[in-house]
Amino acid sequence: MGDTKFKQIAAAITRCIQPGATIVASTGAGCSKESGVPTFRGEGGLWEEHRPEEVASSGVLANEPDKFWQFHDEIRRVIAQAAPNPAHETLAEMEQTLDDVEFAVITQNIDNLHQDAGSETVIELHGNAFRYYCVDCGKQIADVPQPAEEYPPLCPDCDGVVRPDVVLFGEMLPQDALRDAGYLTTTADVFLSIGTSVIVQPAASLPFTALRAGATVVEVNPSPTELTPAADYSVQEPAGGALPNIWEEIRSAAGEQT
Ligand code: NAD
Ligand code: ZN
Repeated sequence: MGDTKFKQIAAAITRCIQPGATIVASTGAGCSKESGVPTFRGEGGLWEEHRPEEVASSGVLANEPDKFWQFHDEIRRVIAQAAPNPAHETLAEMEQTLDDVEFAVITQNIDNLHQDAGSETVIELHGNAFRYYCVDCGKQIADVPQPAEEYPPLCPDCDGVVRPDVVLFGEMLPQDALRDAGYLTTTADVFLSIGTSVIVQPAASLPFTALRAGATVVEVNPSPTELTPAADYSVQEPAGGALPNIWEEIRSAAGEQT
């Protein structure tokens, strides 16, 4: 992709960067791919051997909690080895640099990499693999050693099964995260859709809501999605290269103005 495309996108975003503007980045598993965390649908993913519905569902947690935890520990091991990549770092830097702008990340990822990179406003639609609570008494459990000492780990207060605070197949999304994501999306001036296949609902509807509400929508994904023909701009490249390029162009445009 030539620099011209990045310049065009940067110019469109720069036009929206007014005091009080809202910029939203909606991220999916592809945003963490260059950190070494496999996506659901890509090649070589965790999910080639395990169907997510069969290991990460509310039914498996209820009926075979030991099997559930063995798999969750595999996910935790992969994620714990991962560090933020330039896509996460760029989003964190944008939030820190753009003073008069409301900047938020809405993520489907459960890997904590946006927070590790320094992003502060992060709406987690599918929870976080490193937060835990007891299914019986609801007590928040600060930490579960990795690997867990026993499968499943049990609550120190009531011996109930401890679970990760992630949304499993068959479960609803957290209402407060959904409400915040909906509000941010309808007020967004710029909406970036990064590394998501735009298949898993309700996150998949967000960019279309943003388009209807008049936002400038930019997609970054090496593979086309249903959003690609509808988006204002589409960059078919890995996020770890494309986002720093776009940000660099925004910064140099701002430098030329001053
Ligand atoms: P997905 O696996 O369905 O799709 C990933 C998308 O990322 C694909 O469209 C792919 O083309 C794109 N992609 C691949 N490499 C990329 C790169 N380098 N840069 C940008 N894009 C790239 O993921 P999804 O749409 O996010 O939804 C699946 C679900 O998987 C989510 O609900 C999420 O909770 C869960 N999940 C999370 C993680 C994580 O926390 N890192 C990892 C796997 C799955
Ligand atoms: Zn308990």
